[in-house]
Amino acid sequence: MENHVMNTYNRFDITVESGHGPWIVDTEGNEYLDFISGIAVNGLGHAAPQIIKTLNEQASKVIHVSNLFWTRPQIELAELLAEKSGLDKVFFDNSGTESNETALKIARKYGYEKNKGKKTKIICFKNSFHGRSMGALSVTGQEHYREPFRPLIGDVYDAEFNNLDSVKELMDDDVCAVILELIQGESGILPAEQEFVEGIRKLCDEHDALMICDEVQCGMGRSGKLFAYQTYGVMPDIATTAKALGGGVPIGAVMASDKAAQYFVPGDHGCTFGGNPLACACGVTVMHELFDNGVLDNVNEMSGYFFAKLNELKDKYPEKINLVRGKGLLIGIQMKEGFKAPAMAAAEKHKLLLAGAGNEVIRFLPPLNVKKEEIDEAVKRFEAAVAEI
Ligand SMILES: *Cc1c(COP(=O)(O)O)cnc(C)c1O
Repeated sequence: MENHVMNTYNRFDITVESGHGPWIVDTEGNEYLDFISGIAVNGLGHAAPQIIKTLNEQASKVIHVSNLFWTRPQIELAELLAEKSGLDKVFFDNSGTESNETALKIARKYGYEKNKGKKTKIICFKNSFHGRSMGALSVTGQEHYREPFRPLIGDVYDAEFNNLDSVKELMDDDVCAVILELIQGESGILPAEQEFVEGIRKLCDEHDALMICDEVQCGMGRSGKLFAYQTYGVMPDIATTAKALGGGVPIGAVMASDKAAQYFVPGDHGCTFGGNPLACACGVTVMHELFDNGVLDNVNEMSGYFFAKLNELKDKYPEKINLVRGKGLLIGIQMKEGFKAPAMAAAEKHKLLLAGAGNEVIRFLPPLNVKKEEIDEAVKRFEAAVAEI
């Protein structure tokens, strides 16, 4: 049969029929332990009863009305995100890329009001990942993604992650924003250092630049706090999120301080589907699960357990495993040179699904409500895979 899907992804040779919790079932009835979770999207697992209930209830009321109207789910989710993030205003869209696009526009508008035509510089970081649109791609510090699509947006500069001096060199009053992931995800689960994050905050304050934290992957509880910046005790001016926010339903959100958002006015930005009541109702459910039904506590309990188990494996197979790093349930195992692809393939044979991330790193992204037994099962399967490569 001819395949009409555009060839933009390397895919597993698996066609998924259904899922439940951390498990997916293919069209032939094979069951896999899914520690990819739709790339950190399915925080409550597959077919989560709370999400199904919310979808049914909200779909039978109203799915979409556009932002020409108010809806209760959008107002409620904005209120919850503002309260828990410590930021003031929320803009809704549909994805991580769009959220970063929105954040960059907020920053450029801020710079425009402060010093028209001058305050346009944006600093991003090498090995970052912020999305695929022309704007988000422009601040993604990986040349192999950017090069074929130049010219991209201008006045963007790459600094070195965890190297504050490299930021200082680029910093001046013409900078409107610094954008970073506090735990670089796509390029290998690399956490920022405390002094680096504090230093960026200070530099941004000194030069009236906005600090943008991309929490698309590390946010929504995955780091152990709602947002990773809360694990550093540093407040950004803008935070973007998406992936796990809707429990599997597409939604993105940008949170900003009143200071950053003050110049964003009707006509500056918009999003037809953004903040639709179906997606926002799911977002509200996810927030309740995190804070009121113990899911955030579960991340912290399971994180310590999972890290300990993986470090035992590292000690047992030092010739194959280099290190284990990350935060919360955003965990990367860096394999020794040449072992990543074979380990992932062997894991798949043992029906454990894992995603790669950057240089020799394998990503473990279980649902945020993962149980101890499921972690034990994943570790057992991963060990079997590592043992045979
Ligand atoms: C996945 C990701 C994005 C892009 O999100 P999409 O929803 O795919 O547009 C942006 N930033 C980070 C850190 C991500 O992990």
